[in-house]
Amino acid sequence: MADTNKQIAAIFDQMADVLQILDANRFRIIAMQKASRVIKELPNDVSTMSHKDLLALDGVGKGTADKIVEFCETGQIVEHKELLKEIPKGLPALLDIPGLGAKTVALLWNEANIVSIKSLEKALKKPETLTSIKGLGQKKIEAIAKNLSFIEQAGKRYTLGRAHLKAVYFVAQMRQLPEVAQAAFAGSLRRGRDTVGDIDILVAADPKHSAKITKHFVSLEPVKETIVSGKTKTSVRTKGGIQIDLRIISPDAYGAALMYFTGSKEHNVRLRERALSMGMSLSEYALTNKKTEKVIASETEADVYKALGLDFIPPELREDRGEISAAEAHKLPKLVTDRDIHAELHAHTHASDGLLSIRELAGLAYDRGFHTIAVTDHSKSQVQAHGLDESRLEQHIIDVHAVRDEMTGKINVLAGAEVDILSDGKLDYSNSLLKHLDIVVASPHVALAQTGSTATKRIIKAINNPYVHIIGHPTGRLLMRREGMSPDMSEIIKAAVERGIALEINANHHRLDLRDTHARAAIEAGCLLAINTDTHRPNDFNELQYGILTARRAWAEPKNIVNCFTEAKLQKWLKSCRP
Ligand SMILES: [Zn+2]
Ligand SMILES: [Zn+2]
Repeated sequence: MADTNKQIAAIFDQMADVLQILDANRFRIIAMQKASRVIKELPNDVSTMSHKDLLALDGVGKGTADKIVEFCETGQIVEHKELLKEIPKGLPALLDIPGLGAKTVALLWNEANIVSIKSLEKALKKPETLTSIKGLGQKKIEAIAKNLSFIEQAGKRYTLGRAHLKAVYFVAQMRQLPEVAQAAFAGSLRRGRDTVGDIDILVAADPKHSAKITKHFVSLEPVKETIVSGKTKTSVRTKGGIQIDLRIISPDAYGAALMYFTGSKEHNVRLRERALSMGMSLSEYALTNKKTEKVIASETEADVYKALGLDFIPPELREDRGEISAAEAHKLPKLVTDRDIHAELHAHTHASDGLLSIRELAGLAYDRGFHTIAVTDHSKSQVQAHGLDESRLEQHIIDVHAVRDEMTGKINVLAGAEVDILSDGKLDYSNSLLKHLDIVVASPHVALAQTGSTATKRIIKAINNPYVHIIGHPTGRLLMRREGMSPDMSEIIKAAVERGIALEINANHHRLDLRDTHARAAIEAGCLLAINTDTHRPNDFNELQYGILTARRAWAEPKNIVNCFTEAKLQKWLKSCRP
């Protein structure tokens, strides 16, 4: 939805709510609700439409059209401002509490003088003052108290890795039911975004089984409480705090629904525009002929894309970043998958802060079918990570070479290091030592609040060290915990291209650094990328999937990723970076 549409729909929604609180004429309320709905579903930007175009829309009368034009011209709607003056300032916020409608808000205001979330919280401490009000009652008050705590959770986001594990579990559990034909998670999680707000799960099933399916869902072990439960949609919160929405979809509409709930909103708007221009209409239920309303496609996403004249667009690309024109021209990238990864080039052993021996690490990599594993323990500045000083590193190289010789013919074991990029851009080991290593990953770990040119110069200095192959987690961010550096990424990419070295997508789900947009810019500039798990523990190899998702969001193909090279090509590349 265009921004203007979103803003106007929100204003109409709020006007409807305020009118309801004020117990205004029912038809005025309905008119506002209808206007909001029409604008939300409208594929075009209202600001580009004339008064006459607006009037032609079903559900838009003269009053509504006037207000839309007023907003487009002045950025506000006077009637909306006037309405807001008639109620206490803090009242609209109460409507954000799940299950709290305008009628109840009006009761709370008129009967208990509750004018804000703060005064509601205060009143809930003495619930008997509220339960005595006619139309409220104990059950309702308890529900309000419970839901109030949900708003504190709202807006909270979760890492991709954490949400993904939960979603995979729920989907597998829902598939156990014989009534469930298909189940999948949708939303930003399916698109592989680095953080998600909640989890959307869709199941395809005959609606007549919805009671049984819902019962199964709310009884699953991680569920702490049910937020709302209806025939086709149920929302729960897990013990860990994540909200999970379950939607039961009739199997013949599953594809259209999966597409709708996968989003992104922007991608869906483009698809709806395209459908309209082709005489069709796309909704969460189906792609239909606009005139005859006959269903053209709905069962699978592939059917819908095909009917729209498009190649199937993988979920990670559905961000309105050029994917639709690429799909139309049959020019979508052949996205990298986990099967394309043949090497891990950043991993730790218990020589620094890992839990594995060199032999265990090499064995795990071999079991995954990799042709190469690089042992890259921390350098001496990483004291808390037991980083290796020069003499320990020299011994470590000998130890790695011993395992390499043992594993010959199975897997290629590289002696490397994750060497610190110090705050001034110098590396933590001298070049005379670095040149003895098969591979050097240079990473920033300290002074991560650096911004602008200081950060840019620091990283570029490391890139220009003639023994470096990969810049590890280039900004040093930790999702929702640490912003990391904000260097000029285009300058860094340019320097990396000149040197022919790779920038890393660190697959650890707390990092995912480079992020998708930086990685996309790198690929477009012809920069090589690495996808590394930065393994410290045995299970860390599984983090690869999150790095892959990020790379796919960046339109990455195997040719862009050094971990996808054949053994010979990788060796050649490692040599080519060196003098
Ligand atoms: Zn690191
Ligand atoms: Zn590391």
